[in-house]
Amino acid sequence: MARAAIQGRLGDRLRWRTAEVEDRRTESGTATTLVLSVPDWPGHLAGQHVDVRLTAEDGYSTQRSYSIASVPDGEHLELTVQRIEDGEVSPYLVDTLLVGGLVEIRGPVGGWFVWQPEQAEPVLLVAGGSGIVPLMSMIRTRSSIGSRVPFRLLYSVRDPADRLYADELRKGSPGLDMTYVYTRVTPDGWPRPAGRVEPDDLARHGWPPDFEPTCYVCGPTGFVEKAAAYLVLLGHSPDRVRTERFG
Ligand SMILES: Cc1cc2nc3c(=O)[nH]c(=O)nc-3n(C[C@H](O)[C@H](O)[C@H](O)COP(=O)(O)OP(=O)(O)OC[C@H]3O[C@@H](n4cnc5c(N)ncnc54)[C@H](O)[C@@H]3O)c2cc1C
Repeated sequence: MARAAIQGRLGDRLRWRTAEVEDRRTESGTATTLVLSVPDWPGHLAGQHVDVRLTAEDGYSTQRSYSIASVPDGEHLELTVQRIEDGEVSPYLVDTLLVGGLVEIRGPVGGWFVWQPEQAEPVLLVAGGSGIVPLMSMIRTRSSIGSRVPFRLLYSVRDPADRLYADELRKGSPGLDMTYVYTRVTPDGWPRPAGRVEPDDLARHGWPPDFEPTCYVCGPTGFVEKAAAYLVLLGHSPDRVRTERFG
């Protein structure tokens, strides 16, 4: 590709666009999905994220990254934001920014932590907390195109009230197997005691390494580092383990 064309594409993705909140959905006691309308949005791949910039009246400005939860859909984007109690940006996005409100976004960002419809190999998704967001975009994209590529999801949350997209995941989709790992409180009768993800969970609910799945691991840094190390310990090739750390 000619240098000018590359610069043109990059420039378009680096350009800040004004996005309007079209709708809001409560996902849990601490998380909200913002449905954004973004004029001239260039489209995205499942797994990518955007930068969100907020600017106060006195000119102070700050930005954070948020994964895209939705399938590519014209000028519409969905972000799911988990409120961090002492955070600067997330409480504003979850509690204060209402329908009709404006934010600036740029992107899409990221070319490695993506799932593309032409990928035919089995997929293992491993989410910790809000790390489910980009993985949900992959699950939704797979469903929207009628793909039967086998997906498995292991989703670690503190307790049942923290599950995002619970109804949608309960309905499921053909060829998608999933399980939860509860780290603090389990539902009544849940067979696995509460506790952090262990290698055995990934061995039982993932794919054997010789199936050569692509593994996507997303969540807080500590969670991602442990889960990715366990996958490699179990025999998965490091270049098939893709990670995204939320900080
Ligand atoms: C590529 C990428 C994609 C992301 N996608 C999402 C997403 O889809 N949804 C989402 O809710 N967040 C996502 N994040 C995290 C997000 O960018 C912010 O870090 C988060 O919302 C906290 O911002 P804040 O301004 O509220 O907190 P800050 O003011 O930045 O931090 C306040 C305190 O919280 C701690 N903290 C910061 N981030 C986290 C975190 N994620 N978990 C626990 N503690 C934290 C800080 O260490 C600090 O002590 C993503 C991050 C990255 C890098």
